[in-house]
Amino acid sequence: MQLRPLFPSFAAHFSPLFVCRRIGEYYGKIQNRFFIASKGVSMTIKQVKNYLNGEWKEPHGKEAQDVVNPATGEIIGNVRFSASDEVDSAVAAAKAAFPEWRSTPPTTRARYMFKLKALLEERFDDAARICTSEVGKTLEESRGEVRRAIEVVDVMTGIPTLMKGQSLEDISAGLDCTAFRQPVGVFATIAPFNFPFMVPLWFLPSAIATGNTILVKPSEQVPLSQQLVFEVLDELSLPPGVVNLVNGGKETVQTILAHPDVKGVSFVGSSRVAQYIYSEGARHGKRIQALGGAKNFIMVMPDADIKATAKALMGSCLGCAGQRCLAGSNIIAVGDVYSRLRDALLESARKIKVGNGLEPATQMGPIASKKSLERILQMIEAGIKEGAKLILDGRNAKVPAYPGGFYLYPCIFDDVKPTMSLAKEEIFGPVISLIKARDFEEAMKMVEECPYANAGSIFTSSGKWAREFGYRLPASMCGINIGVAAPMAFFSFGGSKNSFYGDLKAHGGESIDFYTNRKVISSRWY
Ligand code: NAD
Repeated sequence: MQLRPLFPSFAAHFSPLFVCRRIGEYYGKIQNRFFIASKGVSMTIKQVKNYLNGEWKEPHGKEAQDVVNPATGEIIGNVRFSASDEVDSAVAAAKAAFPEWRSTPPTTRARYMFKLKALLEERFDDAARICTSEVGKTLEESRGEVRRAIEVVDVMTGIPTLMKGQSLEDISAGLDCTAFRQPVGVFATIAPFNFPFMVPLWFLPSAIATGNTILVKPSEQVPLSQQLVFEVLDELSLPPGVVNLVNGGKETVQTILAHPDVKGVSFVGSSRVAQYIYSEGARHGKRIQALGGAKNFIMVMPDADIKATAKALMGSCLGCAGQRCLAGSNIIAVGDVYSRLRDALLESARKIKVGNGLEPATQMGPIASKKSLERILQMIEAGIKEGAKLILDGRNAKVPAYPGGFYLYPCIFDDVKPTMSLAKEEIFGPVISLIKARDFEEAMKMVEECPYANAGSIFTSSGKWAREFGYRLPASMCGINIGVAAPMAFFSFGGSKNSFYGDLKAHGGESIDFYTNRKVISSRWY
């Protein structure tokens, strides 16, 4: 395999052939570009492609699915699922690319990361618009998503340092030991719908920077953002086979899981599927990190700053229309803070401007799909039947300019009991459940008994309660006066209990452990 030059020389940049190629690429991109009108989004319907062994290919499986803009209900793309032989081709390409890629110096791999960062920055605005168009979140939220993804690339520019091993001389007379980190082989990443741009990039940069090769399987509901990511990866001129894109649904995942040449899988999605991926992947001898669903608690103590708390809770519970694994969902108000907090939340939530995420005034976009909206509405009905009081009813939301969109205004339930389905099941929508607790102990018991443990936060001005909460919280991501406790890319990301299956979490130092084997070489020379 021939390594393609990372930075084409000056002469090559201006050769007639190169210039023609760039003009061709430019018009290709223009054809695929989303044209954003002032009202709504009119665009060509994008036919989603796979990227296999350095080439774009039309998938040829039997099933196909439309990609729908949830803000308008318009079809903006179509994805045909990959047949099993296409997954096999992707794995074969990744396997063939591995020997040379693993021996590519980490400094060269770091340079690819620097260039990847620069190319992603160039496409930043396009990426945010495509993300909003397929998943509905506001442009500001999409920009945040793209930024967070690029931060993983930022961290991986330091791969020579991150991958360094350890050594110790004279562990016995004349005997030295060196522990190396070595890449493992072919990995796959399987993504959920709610962060179409970022989640695959939680994994891809770390996997390839450590010298592995990878397959990305985006959510079939939102495959467009990864088309842009792979356009960028194509421009990066990695050796063919290092990165591959296979679109599809659960059959595609099953083929990946059963494939003997896939050595590990990084999964993000619901707990039901995460648990399946973990057990099925382990059955096939793979290393697995499977990040699942969530039911996040936020405890508000009587000494919390109510104004700041209510503001943070708006972002936590209603940001991305509540479709975040770190979204606050159960708000436990301790003692006499309950009515003050309820009134502050009601006042703020009523003012949220719901609409098309592409419009600058919008503060909350639509629900990502009709199916999700129907599921959330069913959960609201169940909550009412179980006796919770819906004090802010966001159903029958109307956004007149977009009658086909999947809208729901913020909803607040009062006096939710921990035994109700509203308090126990992941809603994944802009629905706040207010729960009363007598004291810290009663509140903490609710948090500790929850089978999910992704994230949790406390709002208080007491160091004692903050410390106690952080110490006892079963979840692995904890916020103190922070509504969305999302660790940055140089820390690990992932929960506990039913929110995470595996040992090593996403990004940060743990991703280096996940994507490498440690080998200890003991040597004595005579
Ligand atoms: P999902 O589990 O339905 O799908 C995730 C991926 O798994 C998709 O690519 C899908 O094609 C595939 N899949 C679905 N069913 C499958 C099956 N039976 N067998 C094999 N593969 C299958 O999740 P979703 O609805 O796309 O995403 C929302 C969920 O993701 C929520 O539960 C949310 O909490 C979770 N999530 C978790 C995190 C985290 O960091 N823990 C981050 C984002 C989202």
